[in-house]
Amino acid sequence: MPADYHTHTPLCRHASGDPEEYIDAAVAAGLSAFGLSDHAPVLPEPFDDWRMFEHQLPEYFQLIERARKHAAGRIDVRCGLECDWLPGCESWIADLAARHPWDYLIGSVHYLDDWDFDNPKWLGRWAESDVEALWTHYWQTYAAMARSGLFDIMGHADLIKKFAFRPAGDLRRFYEPAIAAIADSGKAIELNTAGWHKPCAEAYPADAFLALACEAGIPLVISSDAHAPTEVARDFPKAIELAKSCGYAETVLFEQRTRRNEAL
Ligand code: ZN
Ligand code: ZN
Ligand code: FE
Ligand code: FE
Repeated sequence: MPADYHTHTPLCRHASGDPEEYIDAAVAAGLSAFGLSDHAPVLPEPFDDWRMFEHQLPEYFQLIERARKHAAGRIDVRCGLECDWLPGCESWIADLAARHPWDYLIGSVHYLDDWDFDNPKWLGRWAESDVEALWTHYWQTYAAMARSGLFDIMGHADLIKKFAFRPAGDLRRFYEPAIAAIADSGKAIELNTAGWHKPCAEAYPADAFLALACEAGIPLVISSDAHAPTEVARDFPKAIELAKSCGYAETVLFEQRTRRNEAL
């Protein structure tokens, strides 16, 4: 089984479970490695109510140490963060990157302007939105995140479809410029299985995106985005099938921000 690098902790205030429970689930699933990547702090605080505070970083490192201790001799534990791509965030991401020997950083677009569009709290806003314009804005933002080169893994590429608001027609017109930017950056993407459990009822990204990404030579990881121990490695067999059907024969592993391949 590939590694599962995209998982959360209670520090973000919308995940549950002890690190030991996540490790037990990862070992039971036979993963090659397990990684934590909780929602990174953003300044100035409080930025919103779904991430750790800056002063909690030491607590986060303690959770990772607990996971390592519990996992010793059974599975490798990697440490990362899921960082938000926000206008002008570059120096903050560089600051965070220098604070710890991270194994990888995940970059995610959860915000368009001041709207965390994937937050169910603001679902009503979608009904009165221009979906085509939002998608255009989202993918331009996503491509800019890729071009920054600040992240090892580009998170849940088409999260914008979460509530199943999709423009009409062939969506590859949105995917292609983003894929070109990611391929240029040399960074990896993730196949995030959480989307199967959201209104969009599809993994992130869609299979058409994955096929184009594979063709462009973009490396892949498979992630659960677990917010509870029971979600670790969720749907991985199905994800492996999907990745293979889109042309992938390997995924990648990270250690100290270097990457190596592993056969699927
Ligand atoms: Zn979350
Ligand atoms: Zn660490
Ligand atoms: Fe996310
Ligand atoms: Fe996440």
